[in-house]
Amino acid sequence: TLAGKTAVITGSNSGIGLGIARELARTGADVILNSFTDSDEDHQIARDVAAEFGVSARYVSADMSKPDQCRALIEKAGGCDILVNNAGIQHVAPIDEFPTEKWDAIIAINLSSAFHTTAAALPGMRKAGWGRVVNIASAHGLTASPYKSAYIAAKHGVVGLSKTTALETAGQGITCNAICPGYVLTPLVEAQIPDQMKAHDMDRDTVVREVMLARQPSKEFATVEQLGGTTVFLCSPAADQITGTTISVDGGWTAL
Ligand code: NAD
Repeated sequence: TLAGKTAVITGSNSGIGLGIARELARTGADVILNSFTDSDEDHQIARDVAAEFGVSARYVSADMSKPDQCRALIEKAGGCDILVNNAGIQHVAPIDEFPTEKWDAIIAINLSSAFHTTAAALPGMRKAGWGRVVNIASAHGLTASPYKSAYIAAKHGVVGLSKTTALETAGQGITCNAICPGYVLTPLVEAQIPDQMKAHDMDRDTVVREVMLARQPSKEFATVEQLGGTTVFLCSPAADQITGTTISVDGGWTAL
């Protein structure tokens, strides 16, 4: 059980972040949910998680593209035992046409935010003698595809940052690892299916298997619950000596 532990999950009002927050809460952790918005729905998500799992859950708005807001998130959480760096965005374009502001935003949100939150969280973890930093990288933290230069650079950077964080915390009861998902069925991905069906004139199953999961040998999406379960495992005593490494949840993508 993770009762008595507090987890901060960045970018967790939807998708993988929310799935991870829910599995941590199911295991007893108090959770701090986050995104850059500050709507009634955001706060309602936190109330729903609290009611469903009987833990304390709070939504704290902070923009992960801003260094000071990354650090303020950890401060407003009152520190944390478990830090999950999950916030991320994507943009697809060839390098010579890639907008500079998109490059800067992706590096800031997908990579630099993890540096700032980790820097803010480590002193408290050291004081407690226990901590977990889980960085959500990607299969694109280990391999590349064309037209995703910023995302792939950022995710490879996240893997490198995870290794350095592990070395600087080794022997202190703190671990840091990166989870590398392949294609995960989030609302964002689900929403692309009808367009792909139209564009390729294929039925749902064919478009999923042959277009979306072309590089995922299992031909099955990973789920947000599975990523939550992987995060819970990394927070368990079985994972005390797992640090500075990557865990792929990608249906075999990186074995190809
Ligand atoms: P998503 O769009 O559902 O979630 C992204 C989250 O980040 C959202 O909660 C969003 O509000 C938040 N966010 C975006 N910009 C932010 C900002 N400036 N400040 C704070 N929060 C911000 O997408 P997802 O698929 O759940 O992605 C979550 C993470 O998993 C990302 O890092 C993504 O790169 C990674 N990932 C996703 C997949 C996939 O197939 N879905 C595969 C590999 C890795």
